[in-house]
Amino acid sequence: MRIVLVILFCFCMFHVAQAQQYDLLIKNGRVIDPKNKVDGKMDVAVADGKISKVAKDIPAAQSKKVIDATGLLVTPGLIDIHTHVFTGSKPDIFADGIYSVSADDFSFKSGVTTVVDAGTSGWRNFPVFKSNVIDKSQTRILSFLNIAGSGMTGNPDQEDITDMNAQMTALTIKKYPDIIVGVKIGHYEGKDWTPFDRALEACNLASVPLLVECHLPQYSLEDQLNKMRPGDIITHSYEKITERLSVIDDNGTVRPYVLEAKKKGVLFDVGHGGYGFWFSEAVPALKQGLGPDTFGSDLHRFSMNSGMKSLLNIMSKYLNLNMSVNDIIQRATWNAAKSIKREDLGSLSEGAVADIAVISLLNGNFGFTDAGGNKINGTQKFEAELTVRAGKIVWDLNGMAAAPFKK
Ligand SMILES: [Zn+2]
Repeated sequence: MRIVLVILFCFCMFHVAQAQQYDLLIKNGRVIDPKNKVDGKMDVAVADGKISKVAKDIPAAQSKKVIDATGLLVTPGLIDIHTHVFTGSKPDIFADGIYSVSADDFSFKSGVTTVVDAGTSGWRNFPVFKSNVIDKSQTRILSFLNIAGSGMTGNPDQEDITDMNAQMTALTIKKYPDIIVGVKIGHYEGKDWTPFDRALEACNLASVPLLVECHLPQYSLEDQLNKMRPGDIITHSYEKITERLSVIDDNGTVRPYVLEAKKKGVLFDVGHGGYGFWFSEAVPALKQGLGPDTFGSDLHRFSMNSGMKSLLNIMSKYLNLNMSVNDIIQRATWNAAKSIKREDLGSLSEGAVADIAVISLLNGNFGFTDAGGNKINGTQKFEAELTVRAGKIVWDLNGMAAAPFKK
């Protein structure tokens, strides 16, 4: 009799375990997964940190935790391809806590699960960045490696051409292929094209894209775009500080060589930052077919306190410039993953890591500013309700996943 009871007990436990095969089930949301061409009311089930199933009407009884996302968007975790998150490295205004911010402090509250650092480190100090920051963060941190050996350490180091070593840069990329996604050229103040050419050489040696973040007028926009290869990324695409980096001419028309570069396959990233986004450039560019491929925020301590604010705020600007929700989510997920050649990310494919954003679309009266203090009014705004990183809830704005308090 006792043996029968034990067998029965085991059978029941097995049945319960079988019944609750998922750890997390997000039900009834509008699932937008551009890679898989999904846009509709679906349920998303997660098990062991991975996307287990995306389907209509997955039974709630099959999951240990169930979240009702009625009226909300459910998307892959957002990817920000332009950030500065190498905190605490040196007492310098570029590569330390004064400029960089801590990724976890800003990512999840904006639905972001992956950030890419834009060359705050170079091959010399990447190992410190990895051990001190990347390995200790919950946010997935990837990196473009600066062609300057010590990254953004200010003058004179970042001006030292003798320390721009294509071979060492490529070797470091090959040593950390899971983390380093490309090379960055930027912030060089001289007129010599050697830094740009060395960065391209490193890209060719390591088969990775180049991120171009040149602020200064030493290189003309036309020359930069001509040197770039298909799949290379220009950031601060809608900047209006100098003639050199404006994609729009004095008549409000996109310059022909810019459209040629786009046709060639050069990718245009927003790179909002403190100075990199102006409505005077972005609005006509969008109307003339030069919308952004990705919404890189250029997150740092100054941009997050000015017009940029967050990746979702940039996405909200484009929402109020009449880009469709689906097109916006595509640029913040699958397009971003493809641009850094990380096609394992940016989707809700079954078996993919369970990085998920649950986003509300607020209606009301909102204002959005650019780098010049110009404002547009809008009636809609994205807000991150819930963020899941590798199956774990890491942000829950309104306690959707929490148990009700009983008095
Ligand atoms: Zn930047």
